[in-house]
Amino acid sequence: MTQPTIETRSFQAQTKKLLDLMIHSIYSQKDVFLRELISNASDAIDKVRFEALTNPELATDGKIKLIADNAARKLTITDNGIGMTYEEVIEHIGTIAKSGSEAYAEKLKELGKNASAPDLIGQFGVGFYSAFIVADEVTLETCKAGEADGVRWHSRGDGEYTITRIPARPHGTSVTLHLRALAAPEEEALPDTDDDFSDPWTLRKTVKKYSDFIAYPIVLDVEKHEVERDADGKVVEGGKTETKIIEETINSQKALWTRTPSEVTTEEHNEFYKHLTHDWHAPMQTLHFHVEGTQEFTALLYVPEKAPMDLYAREQKRGLQLYIKRVFIGADVKELIPEYFRFMRGLVDSSDLPLNVSREVVQQDAVVARIKKTVTTKLINFFKDLLAKDRPAYETFWDEYGQAIKEAFHYDPAVKDKIADLLLVKTTKGDAWSTLAEVVERMKEGQTALYYLTGEKFDVLREAPQLEVFAKKDVEVILLGEAVDEIVVGTLEKYRETELKSAARGELEGLPESVEDKVKQEEHAGKYEKLLGKLKTLLADDLADVRLTTRLTDSAACLVADEGGMSAQMERMLAAMGQAMPDQKRILELNPDHAVVDAMCQLAEKTGTDDRLKDFGEMLVDQALIAEGSPLKHPARFAKRVTDTMARAAMGA
Ligand code: ADP
Repeated sequence: MTQPTIETRSFQAQTKKLLDLMIHSIYSQKDVFLRELISNASDAIDKVRFEALTNPELATDGKIKLIADNAARKLTITDNGIGMTYEEVIEHIGTIAKSGSEAYAEKLKELGKNASAPDLIGQFGVGFYSAFIVADEVTLETCKAGEADGVRWHSRGDGEYTITRIPARPHGTSVTLHLRALAAPEEEALPDTDDDFSDPWTLRKTVKKYSDFIAYPIVLDVEKHEVERDADGKVVEGGKTETKIIEETINSQKALWTRTPSEVTTEEHNEFYKHLTHDWHAPMQTLHFHVEGTQEFTALLYVPEKAPMDLYAREQKRGLQLYIKRVFIGADVKELIPEYFRFMRGLVDSSDLPLNVSREVVQQDAVVARIKKTVTTKLINFFKDLLAKDRPAYETFWDEYGQAIKEAFHYDPAVKDKIADLLLVKTTKGDAWSTLAEVVERMKEGQTALYYLTGEKFDVLREAPQLEVFAKKDVEVILLGEAVDEIVVGTLEKYRETELKSAARGELEGLPESVEDKVKQEEHAGKYEKLLGKLKTLLADDLADVRLTTRLTDSAACLVADEGGMSAQMERMLAAMGQAMPDQKRILELNPDHAVVDAMCQLAEKTGTDDRLKDFGEMLVDQALIAEGSPLKHPARFAKRVTDTMARAAMGA
């Protein structure tokens, strides 16, 4: 080993701030520091056991040891995990990298001076630094498996730490806390806040509370007094008393997921979930099941309270943990769960896979593919059940994850009918969520199709001119305001037996119609023939057709797509994605009952009016584009035409 040099380094400003808050605030849950340190130790053992799959020399029976020294007020947490290199200590322990810690610091900032909010720390996993809640000095010694040197790190939590190389030792890490003095009884802010963590009783209680499920034994050195006995086992009067130190295992180690689902309590799930995900909220939903028979595995799945910020980013971490017969194989195994359930956290423990399975094998493995299929079915049924049994909870879930679930229509059309039952939609009738079945249930007599309108924003959608006739006939229209909705309706086509039809595409069919409506339509057809013919020719460059509509009651005109054509929303989506857009001509529909259309009809009967008709026609197209939220080709030209028309009207021309 080279001559050890002691390097003194400063914490980053943010880390310093966090440490400061940790030290100077009063918490009711000081004991969470132990959960955090044990969790780190357990993760480190997971890692070395994973390495051992390819490097048998590292084979380790994991063990986490607590050594309490009451007289010296010290507590040491030791593990035989993977350990850290010099650089890793600087990177992981010297800097604040963890999202939980950052969120915690943010929250404290938000609370300003009242930063001593007592339960805050219990809600946030703040990792290693939580040691400073109970310690005024922390020493970490570690040696990475296979490294020539070990590392010692030391800090008083005062803005600096020292780091130095030490002789190599068996791989693993030990964290020694020099515990703060206990508060005098009269200073105790809250009962139960000043537990003595150098007392075995307190340690046992705390481990039971937070870390009972940790898969490795957590042991405590306890003194055992043995009195001298004779050959018959009788105590020898005045004999010697021998004091032995023995290791007592203080956690049950029963991997939570191997237990009978109904016997695991919510508190146990919450603790386990926090250990698993480092999330500081309890999970929103929990699904735990065993599969037996042709496949054998256990899954423990959680819906996080909040979707991660990067749920829609390509590089988002996704997947479940994979265990094989309780041995940790890997985190973020994305082959275990479909893309559209990527927000789920949790694990699968399989009995059917070989222990030496590699990443590459997992990718193509038939057993893994079957597990994914079963997990998918279980999840779909679970959410269907939730929808039936607890609507408010399901709506909360849908608000958070509905958009991701809709991607199933893209990734896995085979399950589209099942996913259709999970959809919640907004409609023209109020703000509440409805299922498709509920919208079908409310269909009007004579209505044969379900109508929908896609767009970018609900507010714009609600006022779309294309909805006017539906309002008049009191027919409910589903409003779809997310980009992915185009894929949903494109793939779904039908809900059970009922066809899905765009309210802005093709001819309107499937709506209830009265005899008067029909008579009026025939009259109009004759009256407007000339206008329609002229406009069609004049606007042929921009439009596929000009026709009368039954869609509108108040507006003069709207644009619709051909039955097979692309909706305005799809066009905007493709354009936004930088896709070369085929120049799609749409259909201009005119409202025969509108004064402007009537006036244009009279104009068309005269000669020499083509220029003005063309002008008006183009203005109607532009207006229709504005109403549906689409951009204009020539906005300045439109603005000028409007002001010219206003000026002429004002002068009585
Ligand atoms: P988190 O565990 O949430 O990442 P921490 O602040 O608790 O945040 O720890 C930061 C990192 O330090 C860990 O991710 C891990 O890489 C490393 N680390 C902490 N404790 C140990 C340990 N006992 N053994 C090995 N590495 C550890």
